[in-house]
Amino acid sequence: MRYISTRGQAPDLDFGDVLLTGLARDGGLYVPAQWPQLSHDDLRALAGLSYPDAAARILAPFMDGIPEDELAAITKAAYADFADPGVVPLRRLPGGGSGGHWLMELFHGPTLAFKDVAMQLLGRLFDRELRLQGRRVTIVVATSGDTGSAAIEACKDREAIDIFVLYPHGRVTEVQRRIGTTVLSENIHNVAIEGTFDECQALVKGAFNDLAFRDEISMSAMNSINWARVVAQVVYYITSAVALGAPDRKVSFAVPTGNFGCVFAGYAAAKMGLPMEGLIVSTNRNDILHRFFQTGGYRTDQVVATQSPSMDIQVASNFERLLFDLAGRDGAIVQGQMDDLAERGGFEVSAAALAQAREFFQSHRVDEETTTRTIGDVYRDSGIIIDPHTAVALRAAQDLRPDGPVITLATAHPAKFPDAVEKACGIRPPLPGHMADLYEREERFSILPNDLTTLQDHIRGLRRA
Ligand SMILES: *Cc1c(COP(=O)(O)O)cnc(C)c1O
Repeated sequence: MRYISTRGQAPDLDFGDVLLTGLARDGGLYVPAQWPQLSHDDLRALAGLSYPDAAARILAPFMDGIPEDELAAITKAAYADFADPGVVPLRRLPGGGSGGHWLMELFHGPTLAFKDVAMQLLGRLFDRELRLQGRRVTIVVATSGDTGSAAIEACKDREAIDIFVLYPHGRVTEVQRRIGTTVLSENIHNVAIEGTFDECQALVKGAFNDLAFRDEISMSAMNSINWARVVAQVVYYITSAVALGAPDRKVSFAVPTGNFGCVFAGYAAAKMGLPMEGLIVSTNRNDILHRFFQTGGYRTDQVVATQSPSMDIQVASNFERLLFDLAGRDGAIVQGQMDDLAERGGFEVSAAALAQAREFFQSHRVDEETTTRTIGDVYRDSGIIIDPHTAVALRAAQDLRPDGPVITLATAHPAKFPDAVEKACGIRPPLPGHMADLYEREERFSILPNDLTTLQDHIRGLRRA
């Protein structure tokens, strides 16, 4: 499989190089040159496979440089420590429309959010590729809470990787902080920066743009535009649809959306031949994507803080991958849109492009009060506690009522957002068993001022040569 850039000016790469490169050299994102196809018989043959075995089969055409048995061993290892034997179990909600309403629980990984599903695979794929190329990397990540700890768990004890996670000192919740800082492996470095999340991100950018430093430490990234993270998420759309009767029954998915990575994976599943009723793009008050699907205009606005912080974004970085398809895969059109976004704060797509997008996507926006009410209603009706991100998507599905079975993606464990949950249903959700001693575990982190030179010296001193 070859990968091409959404802006048409970067060299085509194979999977291994796409994995390590992240962003294309022309500023675009890599996408597969063609979508591998799954026939109805291929889909039926997935029924009854374990999640790791199904994952290996679905991912093989995207990663054709990896021998099949090796890929199967990697997926098996990636999901071995998930707290639920089904890895991403479906749970039926009471009521729902004619086809029923399910939650797909994506939060049974080590850091209690769906990012583990992709990151656990990514860390192992990085390790394999680095070993083959005889290279080492230093990963530097800024986090507002969830991504950093998922990256830490993905990288811990990997031979060829050192990782530095920058988070704003005193500005993440104690649960979020402890999930990262209690991992004591020698290649893991938590750094509390005396500043905001934006300042952490600016430090990472500053380090990347210091080319001599970047080369000196072989700096790399694991951010959400990495194609390998997106493709890992294709798997659960397909396995869950098959579990509910695909290809003979069409399923809808309601997806809490921020950077458009998760829901783009659903689109990829549809392009690969999974029959689907549709994808519901669900946003909180930060609704740039909802406004796009309503009007065809993509215009940035101020970011407001909500109870679902992982969806508080202004520009959805993975959205460029959809724009590329809507532009007939013409990179010059995408480049023009991105220029307009930077210079004029937005752009419009053609009526034909909007119609094409609406063949796959619907959208809905859910405000803060409704999110709280939804968490409370679900708890009273079913005894199930959901987190605020999940609540946004579940409410969108309830309001839009698609035909047939509906799957709402449950992207975080409610114990990660105890204040929002307590406000909605009056109880504080307990941490799951494997995390019960989180508050007693030893922590390790450094506190640094918001200063690039200090950070660079810190990284030089701690990374393994
Ligand atoms: C990252 C995240 C999302 C948003 O996913 P995108 O791929 O960025 O759209 C939703 N919910 C939770 C809990 C997340 O951590």
